[in-house]
Amino acid sequence: MLLGTQSVNSQGVLQIGGCSTTDLVKQYGSPLYVMDEFAIRSAMRSYRKAFESRYPRTAFYYASKAFLCMAMAVIVEQEGFCMDVAALGELYTVLRADFPPERIALHGNNKSRQELLAAVEAGIDHIILDNFYELAILEDLLKETNRQMGVMVRATPGVDPKTHRLIRTGQADTKFGFNIKDGSAVQAIKLVQQCPSMMFKGVHCHVGSQLLETETHEQAVQVMVNLLQSVYQETGIVPDALNIGGGLGVRYLSSHQPPSYDAFAEAVTEPLKAMLDKLGLPYPELQQEPGRAIVGEAGTTLYSIGAIKTVPVDEIGGTRTYVNIDGGLSDNPRPQLYEAVYSCILANRADEPADSKVTIAGKHCETDILIWDVDLPSPRSGDVLAVQTTGAYNFVMASNYNRFLRPAVVLVNNGKSEMIVKRQTLDDLLSNEVVPPYLRESSEIR
Ligand SMILES: *Cc1c(COP(=O)(O)O)cnc(C)c1O
Repeated sequence: MLLGTQSVNSQGVLQIGGCSTTDLVKQYGSPLYVMDEFAIRSAMRSYRKAFESRYPRTAFYYASKAFLCMAMAVIVEQEGFCMDVAALGELYTVLRADFPPERIALHGNNKSRQELLAAVEAGIDHIILDNFYELAILEDLLKETNRQMGVMVRATPGVDPKTHRLIRTGQADTKFGFNIKDGSAVQAIKLVQQCPSMMFKGVHCHVGSQLLETETHEQAVQVMVNLLQSVYQETGIVPDALNIGGGLGVRYLSSHQPPSYDAFAEAVTEPLKAMLDKLGLPYPELQQEPGRAIVGEAGTTLYSIGAIKTVPVDEIGGTRTYVNIDGGLSDNPRPQLYEAVYSCILANRADEPADSKVTIAGKHCETDILIWDVDLPSPRSGDVLAVQTTGAYNFVMASNYNRFLRPAVVLVNNGKSEMIVKRQTLDDLLSNEVVPPYLRESSEIR
């Protein structure tokens, strides 16, 4: 499976954005996150077009938590997307990249006063309210600062997506949003409408992530349109925007077949228009928050292969070959978090037949297996391994576990590569550390 601009050159080397992956490792070291700029931009354009051609009043918020650095914020801005941030650091990053505040929305299920204040002071477009506690803090804060703020209300539609238990968010039993069934969502909207410093913009839901079907979004649309109607009946106001979140899945394996952007847009907008027409409601602005669908397939992680070990395994009556790479849990925690699966390519011999079954192991002091039992051309120490579809929830989830350095990120396009995040240095690891002098003063054991 080749994704985005990936291709294999005449020497059998995997290229991304016209750059040889083995040259990238030589130039920038490994592990290395490679982001395919053309793939990111095309995903944004096609996603937009799929919806705009069916439902003209749309707005697209890139879910920045999927992959964010200042360069990414610049790309998002250029492609005409708005930005969804969910924490102070995300807000800070996009503002520092000169992202226009009037195109930013703030999420979070436990926003701090500091985060809310930063959003108000920056003059972002709106805050998506998650709970009554936060609503009260925001009301206070707006009074104190004598400011106004747009708000949306996040509702939990109570639909149950077919995805990993830990990335479902739309079911009723969740920490996110206001419950619809018990009346909390409408109650929150009433409170907002009574508050002169809050401008009510609409309702929001997000049902889950890595969805490979469209039913969940179709169900959510139904529930949310019914909510629009209840809000109208109870308050006389029809919310002017409906945000259906993100969640569209990507290909981690060639067997994964997410709906195309067109099929997805069709599945969302058809029932939406039909129901609005049936109920005689005006068309709200349809907002989306794709994250993974924009950057997932555009990212590849390059690793160098080190030690290779074949061990007898009685359970399978044979052997297993562990191919150890120079990264793992710290640059990609998803296999451990979500039992996530990945595909890989032997980047320097991508044209050779896959004649052996191996297991790709990380180098942490954990059983951090990245990929179990994958068919590859027999790997050798020194080969470069390209793990695909690592653009979303990898770099942003990286840690310094075992005091590993966070890898660099390079952006590739048209045969050129640019570093957009430098590799951490050993000194970076110590930059916030303090040894109190008293610890060294006495030789006595305390
Ligand atoms: C994570 C998240 C998204 C993006 O989800 P993807 O599956 O990456 O598209 C969108 N909206 C909200 C509120 C989220 O929490």
